Amino acid sequence: MDTTDVAAIVTGGASGLGGATVRRLAAGGARVIAIDLPKAVDGAEALDGVEYVGADVTDGDQVAAAVETAVNTGLPLRVVVNCAGIGTAGRVLSKKGPHDLGTFEQVIGVNLIGTFNVMRLAAEAIAQTEPLADGARGVIVNTASVAAFEGQIGQIAYSASKGGVVGMTVPAARDLAQYGIRVMTIAPGIIDTPMLAGVEESFREQLAAGIPFPQRLGTPDEYAQLVAMIVEHDYLNGEVIRFDGGLRMQPR
Ligand code: NAP
Repeated sequence: MDTTDVAAIVTGGASGLGGATVRRLAAGGARVIAIDLPKAVDGAEALDGVEYVGADVTDGDQVAAAVETAVNTGLPLRVVVNCAGIGTAGRVLSKKGPHDLGTFEQVIGVNLIGTFNVMRLAAEAIAQTEPLADGARGVIVNTASVAAFEGQIGQIAYSASKGGVVGMTVPAARDLAQYGIRVMTIAPGIIDTPMLAGVEESFREQLAAGIPFPQRLGTPDEYAQLVAMIVEHDYLNGEVIRFDGGLRMQPR
């Protein structure tokens, strides 16, 4: 699918993987609606072809309004990339007691329900666009994590949320096939984004040493490159692609 003169939505678009995806899609000729939390949007870099919308992905009305902004560009909405996400640390049971239930619900709320919320509302808008000659209307790319498969100690909430994103991939692709919408999921390993901002250099090197090849952290631009490839490649559908340099996470 060509991204010239189409509208695209990227959540988490003011930071990290989402930010790199926004830049890549805009450079490819798309008009990009970058959704992020209002405080992230306030400090976002102004870019040609990019409109930032402050919205919480867990909120139905706010996401519906953001989708409307994309529709109002007058260009067909064809690309949606879900990058908004949060991470927390906590074991099922620790010396402090059982995992806090509210924290677990919050992570599931943003990473899984937020992804679903954007997917359902954006799919409705994509389904109303004129199909291309082959019946295609659009593509939705969701972001899981390798923690969906090898969650580490303390990643119970995050792993559950990302496992849910992986689990949605096939049924969403099946549900949306009749509208000509593909659904793909990327499962990143360790990527150098603001999520790792507080991590010391020595720990960064330790993380890189566990990656078979290339023995370094991934970059947001490489993530955006994969999104662009998925968008372009019309036969990719209903699949989860690991993006991790061959990394298989150890228990800790
Ligand atoms: P990031 O730099 O923290 O970007 C995530 C963005 O999502 C932030 O701008 C954040 O805003 C925003 N956000 C959080 N909650 C939101 C909500 N309820 N509604 C709207 N926006 C919200 O993180 P990243 O590293 O780019 O991660 C992007 C995605 O990749 C996440 O889903 C993450 O789980 C996944 N991932 C990342 C890695 C990695 O190594 N970086 C690995 C595997 C998977 P605030 O900053 O204001 O909270």
